[in-house]
Amino acid sequence: MRPRREADRIRVPDARGVDFRMVGPTRTCVGCRKRAPAAELIRFVVAGSGVDLRLQPDPSRRLPGRGAHLHPDPACFALAERRRAFGRALRLTGVADTGLLAEHIRTVMPHGTTDDVAMVATSRPSKVGRPR
Ligand SMILES: [Zn+2]
Repeated sequence: MRPRREADRIRVPDARGVDFRMVGPTRTCVGCRKRAPAAELIRFVVAGSGVDLRLQPDPSRRLPGRGAHLHPDPACFALAERRRAFGRALRLTGVADTGLLAEHIRTVMPHGTTDDVAMVATSRPSKVGRPR
């Protein structure tokens, strides 16, 4: 392991719920193929070996290896699955189990999201009460 202090200071892996002013790099969703800030996409990697492969969500973006990105949206997931985009993005030779990733998307997906609020809803914690 090489010490890389400067890089550590720029990317703070433990910061959750930060505002996304310093969005940084963009990534392409393997489902809809649109580019989006990496912070808005779920990173996932492939875990396992041989024919026992599964897609592993990586919310903290720390897992090593080749990763790919997807919107936390079942529609994007379905698109990626239909096109076999997972295998292509991760250079898999076989078929990986997508169950973990599907479940992860279900848990991060807010209920009753409409198109209009989807973009703003993610930047604020929803437990903040409305001032009277
Ligand atoms: Zn997408």
